Formats: sequence, structure tokens, C-alpha cells
Amino acid sequence: MKLSNRTVKKEQVTFSGVLKLIFQTVRSYKSAVTGIIFLGILSAIASLIGPKIFQYIIDGLPAGTLSFERAALFAILSAAAILLSAIFTQIAEKLSFFIATQVEDTWRYTSLLRFYQLPLKWHDQHDSGEIGAKIDRGGSAIWSILYEIFGQNLIVLFITLVFILGYILWQYPSFILLFILPIPVYIAVTYVVSNKIAAMQIGINKIDHRANRTFYDGVGNLRYVKTFGKEYSETQKYATIWDAYHRAEYNVIRLWAYQSSLQKLIETITRAILIIVCVIAVKSNTLTIGELVLLVTYQQLSYSPLEKLNQLFTRLRRVTKRASHLFDIAAEIDPLADAPDAVNLSQLKREIRFEDVHFEYSKKLHTLHEISLSIKPGTTTAIVGRSGAGKTTLAMLLARFYDPDAGKITWDGIDLRKTKRSSLRNKLTLILQDTTLFNRSIADNIAYGKPSASQSEIEKAAKLAHAHEFIKTLPKGYHSIVGERGVRLSGGQRQRIAIARALLGAPELLIMDEATSHLDSETELAIKEAIEYLRGKHTQVIIAHRLSTVQHADNIVLMDNGRILAQGKHETLLAHPLYRKLCALQLHK
Ligand code: ADP
Repeated sequence: MKLSNRTVKKEQVTFSGVLKLIFQTVRSYKSAVTGIIFLGILSAIASLIGPKIFQYIIDGLPAGTLSFERAALFAILSAAAILLSAIFTQIAEKLSFFIATQVEDTWRYTSLLRFYQLPLKWHDQHDSGEIGAKIDRGGSAIWSILYEIFGQNLIVLFITLVFILGYILWQYPSFILLFILPIPVYIAVTYVVSNKIAAMQIGINKIDHRANRTFYDGVGNLRYVKTFGKEYSETQKYATIWDAYHRAEYNVIRLWAYQSSLQKLIETITRAILIIVCVIAVKSNTLTIGELVLLVTYQQLSYSPLEKLNQLFTRLRRVTKRASHLFDIAAEIDPLADAPDAVNLSQLKREIRFEDVHFEYSKKLHTLHEISLSIKPGTTTAIVGRSGAGKTTLAMLLARFYDPDAGKITWDGIDLRKTKRSSLRNKLTLILQDTTLFNRSIADNIAYGKPSASQSEIEKAAKLAHAHEFIKTLPKGYHSIVGERGVRLSGGQRQRIAIARALLGAPELLIMDEATSHLDSETELAIKEAIEYLRGKHTQVIIAHRLSTVQHADNIVLMDNGRILAQGKHETLLAHPLYRKLCALQLHK
């Protein structure tokens, strides 16, 4: 399916708005919808023929007007009608399944795409497990809304109802009230109950999201769960929430049962009245017994769509709430989306500049202040400082994962906010501090940024990153699958794969957030060599936690408390007491 950036507005995410959005998507499948309606009409006609034939048989038999041949013909016609009705319904269901899955997929992919596109600031505030569940359940909800409407015979039943009412009005107008009267009562009952259920569903959804959050939080921290022996308590925590979910669900089921009992009561009363009226009419010879049977059967048939329509409406209120969570994600605004006049970046010629940049993750928590910095093409800039100084944040801003709250970052004079995101992504590679890998093969991981890379290119990058040797020792070499988040490799090995991935892409700008914990001597060497390999040809920004890797950098930026304290070459910076202290701590262990 072709992915597209569909726009949804926040104010569209209401009960009717969500249904409207879903049906707008259905419009793309006009021929399937027309097919379903056409088949529905045929099926409705076929299902009405049966009772009519029955009427002829009942009236014809005692009167002696029914010959054997006629009876046989009626039997064949009746069987054919039932068979045809079943075939039409089958085809209609297949078409319904097609529409429901297509529309579900469209919105599933739209929200997933938006999830990936949304900036890190949004992700920092949302739980990915919960979002995953919202997309999953929302998708299923869209499917069931459409399948309930188009499949499940609803259209056939509804057309049948219209035909029955038309037929009764035409042939038996004095009976029409008995057919029409239950409709407003049904609607009133449904309206009241469905409103209650929709209100309860909000609470149920909240519990559901809490359960998912708890689940993914535990599963994502599996090693710590085991370390602290919390298997039981994590499961218990989840079970407690899930129990609450079922209790809340049970209350909804109880309401459903009330609704259905009330409907049955209405049905029974009106049927009893119809039978009494019909018996009186038969006794006064204004109605035949066959007609009595026909009217009672048609009345029964007319309840079916009403019952389904009412159940459907209640279910829609419920399920639409779930779908709305998916649309909520699709309606999120991406503040970092490309402006219409965004420009493509070209090769860096003069400099990247931080001009008086300020940034905060959340209100009142100032992370970066008055950052002014110039990065010249082909140079190596090292950012050093104590933990929490703001080094990683500075790198994140440079990679445009966040935009500054004040000031700007420019690339040869162009504000990064005015550039196309994809063009910046093509220019830079980021090696994050805590390298996690995709649960794919090592080769796939190295070639992530350049899927067209040949095996020899992949191996060359791995050799430069000191990864080739250990990869060769793995049973499947480059085809070894690394496990979830790369769990089957050591921290240092993961980082070397990440370095190989960055080197293969040969980025114009390499941002490396050096690992603090996984820096074994082999990885330290890999980093040093990678820096040397790219020196002069590529621009590098290295966040160094061990000064040994960056002493020869062209510019070392010393940060503390979100500010730049000093910058210059290693020898110049030695005059600064904090830098001297960092050197003493890290270089002469
Ligand atoms: P460094 O890389 O120098 O160790 P960071 O840039 O990671 O420092 O962090 C700077 C400050 O920003 C710290 O106080 C940290 O707690 C805070 N911080 C980092 N990431 C986030 C985040 N995603 N949300 C909120 N605060 C954050």
C-alpha cells in the first residue's frame, strides 16, 4: 500500500468526526461499496420470497388450488432463493472484508508514519508501548466498525427492513403501525444505553492504557526485573490493573444485557399484539391463515435489522473511542515538519554556527544557555565537561532532534529550521551514547543508512571500526542476528558496529556521543582510528567522556551547567581549572 501523509485536525477527533474520516476513506472503494449494496438488494429480495411462497402453500392446500407440480415448483423456488441469498451474502462479506482491511491499513500506516515523524520532545513525553497499543487497538477498531456495517449482513438486513415496510404499506396498510411503532422505542433505548456505555468506555480505555504501559515497562527492563527478583511483583502489578479492566468491562456487559432484554420485551409485546389482531382479522375473514403466517414472519424479519442496528450503534460508540486514540496520534502536529519553502542543504563550505542558543526540555529547566560556537568544515570539535553539562543536548540540537527555544543554528548561514529535514539527515550521522541495534543481521545493521552497500563495502567499514575480527568469529558471521536491541553483543561490540554503520555512510558531518560505560580498549582504539580516518575530509563533533580520544581535536569546547566555559586547543584549555581537573581524572587514571 502506498503511504501518504494524511492530515487530521485535532477537532475532527470526535465520535462523528472519526466516523466521517473513516467513511471518507471508504469513498476510495466506491465500486466495492456499490457491489455490496447491489448484492444486498438481491439478497433481501431472495430472503423475502421464502415467506411469500409459504403463504401460497398454506392458503392453497386447504382450498385445493395447489397442484403437485406447483408445490414442487414452489419448493425448488424456495430452495433456490435460500441458496442465492447465501451466495450473495458470502460475496458481500468478502467485499466488506476487503474494504475494512484496506481502510484499517490506511489509518494504521498513517498513524505509525506520524509516530516516527514526531519530534523527540513528543516521544520524551509519551510511552512507546502505550502508543503501540493505541495504534494496534485503533486499527482493529476501524476494522470492526466497517465490518459490522458492511459485513455481518447489516446492509442486507436493512434493505430487507425497507422492503418489508414498503410491502406492508402497499398491501396491508392497516398493519403498518404495528411494524413501525417499535422503531422509536428501540432507538430511545439504544440512545440512552449507548451514551452510558460510551462514558464508561473512557474509563475502560484509561485502564487498558495503564495495563499496556506497565506491561512494556516491565518487559523493556527485563534484566533489572530479574536482577531484583521482581518477576512475581511485576506480574502481580499487571494482573491488578487487568483485573480492574475486566471489572469495568463486566459493568458494560451488564448494560448490554439490560438493553437486549428490553428489546426482547418490546419485540414480544408487539408480536403478541400482531398475532391477536391477525387472529381477529382471520376470524372476520379479512385475512387468510397464509397471510397471518406471512405477516408474523415479516415482522420477525424486520426485528433483525433493528436489533442489529441498535447493537451496532452501541458498539460503534464504544469502538469509535478506541479508533479515536489512533486518530489522536495521526492528528499530532509535527512542529519540526518542513516549511513549504524549506531548502535543501548543500555541501558545507564556510561553517556551522550556534548563535546564542537557548534550550529547555521542559519549562523552567534550562538545559542550554547562550551557546555560541563555530564548526568549520573538515575540523574535529570535541565537547567535554562533567556529566549533565548539556553535551548530548547540544549534539541533539545540531542533529535537529530538537529546535532551539531561542537563538539559531545555521549551516553556511541558513537557519536549520528553514531546511528540509531529509537533506540534513543525508548530511549527518549520529553515533549515540547507548548504542542499540536492530534485531536484524550484522550486515543489515551496518548497511542501515546505505542499504545498497555491497558486502565488500560493509566489510571495509567493519575493518575500520575494529569490528571485522569479532564478527568473523560468530557462527554466522555477517549474517548473525544480533537479538533485540543488539542484546547478543557486548556494549563495546555494539558501539563498533555503530561506528562501522557511520563510516559506511561516509557522512559529511559525524556526531559521536562517546559511550561512557562500554569503552573497552578495542573500542577506544576504533574511535581514535575512525576520527583519524575522517579527519580533514569530514566534519566531526565528538562528545568525549574520555579525553584520550580527542586531545588532538581542532577545537575543544568545555561545558558546564549548560554553558560553554571555554574553548580552544588542548594546550590552551589546560589553563582552565575545570579542564585541568577533567584531564587529571581521565588521563592519568
Ligand atoms: P551530558 O551529555 O553532558 O551528560 P545531557 O545533555 O544528557 O548532559 O543532559 C543535560 C541536562 O538535561 C541534564 O540535567 C539532564 O537531566 C537533562 N535531560 C537530558 N535529556 C533529557 C530529556 N529527554 N528530558 C528532560 N531532561 C533531559
